[in-house]
Amino acid sequence: MEIKNLTKVYKTEYELVKALDDMSLVFPDKGLVFIVGVSGSGKSTLMNMLSGVDVPSSGEVMIGNKSLFNEDKNHLYGYRNSYVGLIFQDYNLIEDLNVYENIKLPLEFLHYTDFSIVDEVIKKVDIEDIKYSQVNQISSGQMQRVAIARALVKNSSMILADEPTGNLDSKNTKIVMDLLKDISKDRLVVVITHDDDAAHEYGDRIIEIEDGKVLEDNLYNESINEKTEEAKDIEFTKPVVTIKQQLKFTFRFIKNSLARSLAICIMLILIPIIGNVLCGYAFFDISTSYKKYQDEYKSDYVLLAKPVTGYNVYYSDEDYINMIAKYGDVFYEVHSTYIPLTTDELLVDDFYQPVIENIITDNYDRLNFVEGYLPISSNEIAITDYICSAYEYYNGIPLWIGDRLNIAGYNYEICGVVDTNFEEFVNEDFTNDLKRMAFEENLEYYNAVYTSFINYQSMHDNMQYYTEKISYTKMPEQIGDVPEKKEGTILVRNLDRNSTPYLLRGTSSLLNQNNSYGFISDRLWQNVMGRDLSDISLINRAIYTCYGTSKYNLSVRVAGIHRDTSSNLIGIDGEVMIQGSAYQRYVNQSNFCRLLVDKNSPAYSEIVKKENVINPSFTYAKATWVRADSSKYVMIEFLITLVLIICVFAAIINSMTLNSEKKKIGIKYSFGISKFPIIVPYLLETIFYVLFGFLISILVVRLVYPLLMTGLIYQTKQEILEFQFFYISSGSILGWDLLIYLIMLISLTAMILSICRKSPIEIIKDL
Ligand code: ADP
Ligand code: MG
Repeated sequence: MEIKNLTKVYKTEYELVKALDDMSLVFPDKGLVFIVGVSGSGKSTLMNMLSGVDVPSSGEVMIGNKSLFNEDKNHLYGYRNSYVGLIFQDYNLIEDLNVYENIKLPLEFLHYTDFSIVDEVIKKVDIEDIKYSQVNQISSGQMQRVAIARALVKNSSMILADEPTGNLDSKNTKIVMDLLKDISKDRLVVVITHDDDAAHEYGDRIIEIEDGKVLEDNLYNESINEKTEEAKDIEFTKPVVTIKQQLKFTFRFIKNSLARSLAICIMLILIPIIGNVLCGYAFFDISTSYKKYQDEYKSDYVLLAKPVTGYNVYYSDEDYINMIAKYGDVFYEVHSTYIPLTTDELLVDDFYQPVIENIITDNYDRLNFVEGYLPISSNEIAITDYICSAYEYYNGIPLWIGDRLNIAGYNYEICGVVDTNFEEFVNEDFTNDLKRMAFEENLEYYNAVYTSFINYQSMHDNMQYYTEKISYTKMPEQIGDVPEKKEGTILVRNLDRNSTPYLLRGTSSLLNQNNSYGFISDRLWQNVMGRDLSDISLINRAIYTCYGTSKYNLSVRVAGIHRDTSSNLIGIDGEVMIQGSAYQRYVNQSNFCRLLVDKNSPAYSEIVKKENVINPSFTYAKATWVRADSSKYVMIEFLITLVLIICVFAAIINSMTLNSEKKKIGIKYSFGISKFPIIVPYLLETIFYVLFGFLISILVVRLVYPLLMTGLIYQTKQEILEFQFFYISSGSILGWDLLIYLIMLISLTAMILSICRKSPIEIIKDL
């Protein structure tokens, strides 16, 4: 080894310090060389150049014909790793590792597989009794011997020791000096000391320096300058750090900084949850959320009606054409009907509806048939498998193809059975409101008869009555009271088609005068309008108005009260009989329809956002939407703040990490480890936290969070139902964890890279 014109200038705040001044020296291949000098003379600086842990301002350190500080960093890393063994005054052992592991470490970086030499070296420096002790539990003499063992173990060509006995008593000094003398027999050992006695007792050569210059250079043993026979071709081995080693570093690091690890974990649990809530509110999307509800509860359809001044009314033909123009033909048309399956009120069941309420018209491309075919002629009709079962439930025998079904007084032959998924709900728990609603929503499709639109129009002519769900006004008790609005179903009959009804009150003569006159049944008069039969003062004056789901209201001036013929029909509140153009207008209205859309339809999201969805469960989704929408901007502000908080927190945590780890990084760096492998354990650590944080946050969100929300924040049942639409997604939690990870990763990498810009010795000494 040779140094040529080595100069090192330190820049301090106030001055330039020339610690080495154009120094040139040639070192032998073996022997114990001491460097002595007063404090501040530049000994350590020289040593740091020799060991490659610091860079000179100018000049060269040559190993054979290789220059240490040329452009190729790998050279330097390899040199530190394989060629030189370093012993520091303050030992610089890695505290995470025990004695044995500290000594073994350099060998691992040199990709050794046989570690028997570790035990040999341990025996040589006589520390077998503390082999498995933690390095912070042994005495300073023992620590220095561990440090020597670590420098010795890789059998390097050169050992450099900076005041190895500076912190030791005389007994330990002797032990260490004897050791160094012994190992200098076949390699170069350079030792800095200010212990002149020891230097003169052991030294083969003593170099005294002052103010960065060589003052004296005395050789005491000529034999060390003999050239070794074989001309060694010097090889530097770059260190390799295996993943297993990195994991070991990671685990020890986590173990040794539990409080810090805990802080990070808590952050990784809390922030995703908070972030998720904020995101949920800020970016709440009604169609995604409602689709999730539909998927979860198996609600398969979206039912649409037209909103007109507070009412949901049916679509006219014109409206329907507009809808198709907007969204494509994704709709089933749903028309109201009334086909009772039973007359026995005691049998009425939640699951099997006693009345078929819909006629659905479609081009049939979308329907699956269990058996049979689509109605071809106008006296045919298709039913669903649900209706087959409902009919069997009420009547003991199933309804099947070839059987007849009476629709509004006319018999149709069943020609096909449509396949539905109603079986999925057979064992559902309908005490859960959302589940019950989902089933009811599907009933629009299940509880229906099917025909083509053309057939449906000819069915009109056969129908003797229509029914409709309505809002009707109850007559005020006193003039001036506001009429009370109620909901129910009435049957509307055509007077022309029927034999004259049995009139209880009033007269049919009025009917001839004006088409707005009609009869209403005794049940309607008593139960709905709240009048006694004997109270006929209002006849001729009362106007009975139904606000149907159709566009037009049915307004009837009461001409008379007839005996109710529908009293054995479940769910019917009463009858109205009208004639002529009034009835015709009403019939035309029943061409009007609601629209049913499959939830898998491509237009789903747009329809849910823009159209008037009348699914019962949609109310809750919509309320959540309103709630979220009102707080959207505040939430976005919070979100931004949260991200800033994470950045600051990550930076603080990372700088905490690095302050406690700096020395270790410096030691590894002085072993020749390059930047990237130094970063890896810290990255791995963060990955562990992220995985851990993710799992726990999911657990918290799925178990604790809903309880908390429903128990503390949302009080009413209505609010709890609304809350069900506020989904917490695992994806969002993961996203937040990854965001934190990314921020921590970037700030950590930046910090480590800035640390590694310094030389190892500057890192170790924290300069
Ligand atoms: P010795 O080891 O002989 O006591 P050093 O090599 O440590 O001496 O220091 C030589 C000179 O360089 C001293 O004046 C010291 O103050 C100065 N010096 C050493 N390291 C630094 C540094 N990192 N920054 C500034 N000055 C330094
Ligand atoms: Mg010194």
